[in-house]
Amino acid sequence: MPASSYTVRVTKDTLVFSSGHFITYNGDNCEPVHGHNYRVAVEVDGELDENHYVFDFIALRDMTKALVDSIDHRMLLPEHSPYIRLHDDGSNWLVRYKTRYWSFPKDECVVLPVANTTAELVADWLRCKLCEAMTARSLPIPAVIRVEVEECFGQSARVIWHRDGGA
Ligand SMILES: [Zn+2]
Repeated sequence: MPASSYTVRVTKDTLVFSSGHFITYNGDNCEPVHGHNYRVAVEVDGELDENHYVFDFIALRDMTKALVDSIDHRMLLPEHSPYIRLHDDGSNWLVRYKTRYWSFPKDECVVLPVANTTAELVADWLRCKLCEAMTARSLPIPAVIRVEVEECFGQSARVIWHRDGGA
């Protein structure tokens, strides 16, 4: 039977954030602190609603914008890294990797519930927070959500999430 499927995508010039991070890789390596001018694109698939929308563009844009604003001009730190340890040092996070350590004012950091602040896991965190924002607004959760995080031109990661767990 013929069938149409629908997708909406938002990738506005305002859906950007400039943040610091560093990641560990291959277990035994840790990047120096650096930053990116990240860009975000969000795409959702679903059935058409009574307005013949998959999803309200404006609502999707505004929820995404609020999320990127929450991590803009912040140091992104991983809460669940097996290698990078965060120690509460009063107004600062004391961050340790082996013999290296850094101290960042807490109000200039966002601690993300991820194992590593890769573009992949930042994308998945954004996807998770988008679902929370949709639920808070009593909006239906789309069947598929894709979030792409571009670290720099031509270099991006995408998470594809299926509401019902299927492919
Ligand atoms: Zn990086």
